[in-house]
Amino acid sequence: MIKSLNDCKLGLCKSVAVSLNERLLTLKENFRVLEKNYFYYELIVMQKRTDYITWDEYFMGIALLSAKRSKDPNTQVGACIVNGQNKIVGTGYNGLPLGCSDDEFPWSKQGDFLDTKYPYVCHAELNAILNNIGMDLKGCRIYTALFPCNECTKAIIQSGIKEVVYLSDKYNGSDTSIASKKMLDTAGVSYRKVISGIQQLQLSFDETDV
Ligand SMILES: [Zn+2]
Repeated sequence: MIKSLNDCKLGLCKSVAVSLNERLLTLKENFRVLEKNYFYYELIVMQKRTDYITWDEYFMGIALLSAKRSKDPNTQVGACIVNGQNKIVGTGYNGLPLGCSDDEFPWSKQGDFLDTKYPYVCHAELNAILNNIGMDLKGCRIYTALFPCNECTKAIIQSGIKEVVYLSDKYNGSDTSIASKKMLDTAGVSYRKVISGIQQLQLSFDETDV
């Protein structure tokens, strides 16, 4: 029985408070359920990426990217040296020695020997060895886009590198390639073609893609 208007207001307030409290409890419970569901969603759906590149693809990619720095109009080769902990310790590409201008020395493949690039250009593998971060390369492996020539092979063996990973062996059967393989086999340096399931890898320099 309503005793007074004030009692009536108080009763109404209590009823509203109870109702709000019930709603709050329901919301809390719903939130807990959502949280739990999201946890399972992450567990089931948010697995690690499976289309990431392999170490071989990564290091050969670095070699191929290094080649993009070459000024040689005909052949661009890059190389990347990696230690036993998969750390990059040297990179290089075919280019002229330090202090020799790209604009003054010849890039021609034909003509008198001194008017061609051959006596001057330092190959990618040799550059990678010479440009290394200042460590012993013993036991390292070298990734090179092109199977190393006999001159680079000498440097590879002498530096202590133990494995050559290449992408192309297009001069296989040539005298320089035969000499390279003969030296590598004799010195116990292994070589293998890179295994990759990808044909192309595109890099975007669009900031919105990051
Ligand atoms: Zn070479």
